[in-house]
Amino acid sequence: IYILAVESSCDETAASVVRNGREVLSNVIYSQIDLHTLYGGVVPEIASRKHIEKINQVIEKALSDAGITLQQVTAVAVTYGPGLVGALLVGVSAAKAIAFAAGKPLVGVHHIEGHISANYIENKDLVPPFICLVVSGGHSHLVVVKDYGEYEIIGRTRDDAAGEAFDKVARAIGLGYPGGPKIDRVSREGNPDAVVFPRAKVDGSTYDFSFSGLKSAVLNYLNSCEMKGIEICQADVAASFQKAVIDVLVGHSMEAVSQYHLKKFAIAGGVASNSALRAAFEEACRKNGLEFYHPSPIYCTDNAAMIGVAGYYEYIKGTRHGWDLNAVPNLKLGERIS
Ligand code: ATP
Ligand code: MG
Ligand code: FE
Repeated sequence: IYILAVESSCDETAASVVRNGREVLSNVIYSQIDLHTLYGGVVPEIASRKHIEKINQVIEKALSDAGITLQQVTAVAVTYGPGLVGALLVGVSAAKAIAFAAGKPLVGVHHIEGHISANYIENKDLVPPFICLVVSGGHSHLVVVKDYGEYEIIGRTRDDAAGEAFDKVARAIGLGYPGGPKIDRVSREGNPDAVVFPRAKVDGSTYDFSFSGLKSAVLNYLNSCEMKGIEICQADVAASFQKAVIDVLVGHSMEAVSQYHLKKFAIAGGVASNSALRAAFEEACRKNGLEFYHPSPIYCTDNAAMIGVAGYYEYIKGTRHGWDLNAVPNLKLGERIS
């Protein structure tokens, strides 16, 4: 079974061919990061226009890199939410047109289901059930993956997503956009215990996250340093902030695995490529006797291979979408809209 997958939910135009669910034959990603760096963040209108410009050549390259023709494709999978509506529409329209013209079935995929499924690519032995921490630009979810396509969200953020916090703090300390990778890099030179930032607990839920308080604490610290005329050490602030985020993520996750009696734990999403976070989870999982799974960095940030994997499992379960498939910007995980 060959899945041609398309992803355009944010600022990556991507297409991929995946064979039998876990074998990536091609993974083409056109990143618009340079374009948006100028504005300090993703500008939705610019993203949509660039997707339109790039989508066809990205899809053609995915097919040619895989060495297959459109006729050999079994089904076309596409991200239809959540994400930026204009950006999503470009991928959805392209996928519908191609599937319709070639007479192939269409499978709509949830973007976060894609992020989680990225773990199947390099871990051929990973099968549900397991717990997955999804930390991306727009989401911070603790998810029980009960089966393929079956999810229970047991924890979520009450305010900012983890990636969003990285991006905002990076901007505040003058690192610029995109913040995650930059904080990751400068933190290696910094002392994570230099500044003590709060580890927020959320009332009423063991597994929910809150990162806006931490962001404010960093801003307050920067302001007070400025008022006192103290020069801040960028690397120390970055490392201390990063440590505070990681401590909370690891704490909640380990509590969840023990509560649910699962022995397998995975991470997913852009922030999952953070080197200190990976090291911290490696350590925590070893201590707790858990099997730890994580995608390579290229499969953590947005890509279409992960959509191809999720699309495969949806396809063999019988999921099909009609030609009226629409972009759903606030699609919920596990929710089905045709
Ligand atoms: P979502 O998947 O929630 O819709 P998105 O697709 O924009 O959002 P991703 O592409 O999964 O998000 O991840 C991008 C986020 O990951 C950004 O916030 C970015 O700063 C963060 N990120 C990327 N690399 C790293 C890193 N090495 N360390 C920390 N954060 C990182
Ligand atoms: Mg992106
Ligand atoms: Fe994403």
